[in-house]
Amino acid sequence: MTEVGNGYTGRFAPSPTGPLHFGSLVTAVASYLDARQAGGRWLVRMEDLDPPREQAGAADTILRSLEAHALHWDGEVLYQSQRHDAYSRCLDRLLARRLAYHCQCRRRDIIAMGGVYDGRCRRRTEAFDGATAIRLKVDTGGGEPGPVITFTDLIQGSCSQQLAAAVGDFIIRRKDGLFAYQLAVVVDDIEQGITHIIRGSDLLDSTARQIFLFRLLGQAEPLYGHIAVVVNKRGQKLSKQTGAAALDDSRAGANMGAALRCLNLPPPAELHDAGAAILLQWALQRWRRDGLPAVMATDNPLS
Ligand SMILES: [Zn+2]
Repeated sequence: MTEVGNGYTGRFAPSPTGPLHFGSLVTAVASYLDARQAGGRWLVRMEDLDPPREQAGAADTILRSLEAHALHWDGEVLYQSQRHDAYSRCLDRLLARRLAYHCQCRRRDIIAMGGVYDGRCRRRTEAFDGATAIRLKVDTGGGEPGPVITFTDLIQGSCSQQLAAAVGDFIIRRKDGLFAYQLAVVVDDIEQGITHIIRGSDLLDSTARQIFLFRLLGQAEPLYGHIAVVVNKRGQKLSKQTGAAALDDSRAGANMGAALRCLNLPPPAELHDAGAAILLQWALQRWRRDGLPAVMATDNPLS
């Protein structure tokens, strides 16, 4: 039996808080090139977990934008908003194994603890009044320091994080009832059989928590590669919050050319007016993880 996609399954997972902007295009292109060059599958997941932050119609706008840039995905798009049962089942399993617990501490309590949650609700015996968050234990207690998660990032190299010191017992369901990103992303990466994750370095700090959760759930974690994120003149990551402009899909070729320049793949002069599909084909022959820049500072490359 031949393995579909050479055993490589990658994914791009935008949040529909607004239309696709240049920074997310660069991430999408990197993950697409890495997957397709390996002969792998490339999936899209819509991380629509937080309705108050989302913009009506943004998910469809993002998908149309990906298509306009010749970033064609395999299979069906997975929507996190339709995955609540799976997240609930995972939470129930973690609670039943006493790996997670309820907590009602407030933000100001955690600031008073020095910013890293000290696990005090683990020992709480009295009943809670009102809504609770659910936290995951990052160590087994009993004075053990807890695991140091180490991994070799495909782009950043060797990384490690001591979870108890760096983040403490972290939230997997929020007090308002919303599932936390760290839980949903792992449950979905397992469901979709993701083997390789190429994404922005703003998520590097989340990776140890996610690997920890994979291992608790008895699953092998995927390989991770974090590319530098595109920043604006003030050094801020391009995002809706920092005022990044929506991509103009009618200029897909120019957008793709600019994205490839960010990835150290400047197209030659004869491809100056080429469309996105031609540019992607050209880049597929040349993509190299080790050719990536450490920083992608840019003044608006499209202006
Ligand atoms: Zn607490």
